[in-house]
Amino acid sequence: MEFDTIAAISTAMGEGAIAIVRVSGDDAIAAVDKIYKGRKTLLEVESHTIHYGYITEKGTGQVIDEVMVSLLKAPRTFTREDIVEINCHGGLVSVNRVLQEVLRTGVRLAEPGEFTKRAFLNGRIDLSQAEGVIDLIRAKTDKAMNVAIGQVEGRLSKKVQKLRQALLETVAHVEVNIDYPEYDAEEMTNNLLREKAQYVKGEIEKILNTAQQGKILREGLSTVIIGRPNVGKSSLLNSLVHEMKAIVTDIPGTTRDVIEEYVNVRGVPLRLLDTAGIRETEDIVEKIGVERSRKVVKEAELVLLVLNYGEQLSVEDENLFKIIEGMDAIIIVNKTDIPQKIDLEKVKQLAKSRPVVTTSLVEDQGIDDLEEAIATLFFQGNIESGDLTYVSNSRHIALLHQAKGTIEDALQALEMDVPIDMVQIDITRTWELLGEIIGDTVSESLIDQLFSQFCLGK
Ligand code: GDP
Ligand code: ZN
Repeated sequence: MEFDTIAAISTAMGEGAIAIVRVSGDDAIAAVDKIYKGRKTLLEVESHTIHYGYITEKGTGQVIDEVMVSLLKAPRTFTREDIVEINCHGGLVSVNRVLQEVLRTGVRLAEPGEFTKRAFLNGRIDLSQAEGVIDLIRAKTDKAMNVAIGQVEGRLSKKVQKLRQALLETVAHVEVNIDYPEYDAEEMTNNLLREKAQYVKGEIEKILNTAQQGKILREGLSTVIIGRPNVGKSSLLNSLVHEMKAIVTDIPGTTRDVIEEYVNVRGVPLRLLDTAGIRETEDIVEKIGVERSRKVVKEAELVLLVLNYGEQLSVEDENLFKIIEGMDAIIIVNKTDIPQKIDLEKVKQLAKSRPVVTTSLVEDQGIDDLEEAIATLFFQGNIESGDLTYVSNSRHIALLHQAKGTIEDALQALEMDVPIDMVQIDITRTWELLGEIIGDTVSESLIDQLFSQFCLGK
């Protein structure tokens, strides 16, 4: 394919201090060479080498920044095009000036995600891998990162391709049967179709089972801390945020009306809702009203209910238990450093089978147990396996659900003995839906929309 040469600031992940201008395309090397001064010109150096030099202003020759330039010739590059990366030393101001200078040579500013889009269009990666790159950029914990990396490496793609292959084989088989009805006993075809369709359905279900965990790893487990005034909600929030380190305080490109904070608990990202309410007013219920707080609680995936070890259970406490009826929750009985007044047996009863943890936040006791409880709840006894094919992207999940629907239609049609070419329609549709995950059958507008979600410079 033919593309023009593009450039953007592309800062290395996790290393905010180093700023890189990345240039990709046929003219990348010649363009940068016009403004680069080093021991050799870039035209005479070998691929996959790094060079020390200066970027200078076109015309005046004035030095803009001291740089390291990496030169990567097609096709062994991320975009499969020639790539020049200019590592700037002088921070953000000079990286912008370097970019301006590159653009003055006639190179175009890249759109968000355009490098990755090229990698996709040039056949270097498939669509689900490209989406993995988006997730990688946004990954909030190491585990989320692993899921994203798995996706970039094509774990989901491989699975999906395998399933599509199986479907294709059945379609081929049906074609033969339609063209030469006498060639194959109808019953054999039916059995084979049923077997393959069952297999595909089972595999789709397996992938979908990881969806919830995948989604949580990607987006965070929405969590709310509730409890009467003074039981220790703010203290809990602080020890979660401080001990386990807040990872992300704002997500670029999203606006939300509740303030959120992320904490990483043994690889599970908790997205703490309405922490502002807890911080500012000392009592979320008082500030936003019972109805609204009930709503906040209902929206949460996990409730941390805090009780006071040194006081008897009150009517309000019991009401809070009613509000969280049927929800995933951890009951935290705090202030074990003061004499016990609470009836722990009663608490356990009200908790039903949900975990009860005792803590003394002032003495830093019980945080480990709390972490353990959160991790156990999340992984539900599953091994935190690195080789599971997690699916975490909502577009993939939606497509897998649809594909599961159409393959179920096929199975049902087989049960009802409808003509085989009718069954084939459902199977073909399933094959198409799976293809959309890896970008085989997606429309151009969808591709544009997906890539526009990227950060600039990726
Ligand atoms: P909130 O109103 O539920 O947010 O409660 P805070 O976190 O603001 O805590 C209320 C008071 O209880 C503060 O003075 C805290 O220092 C104190 N506190 C919090 N945790 C503990 C604990 O484990 N033991 C004791 N003795 N006091 C605590
Ligand atoms: Zn508080």
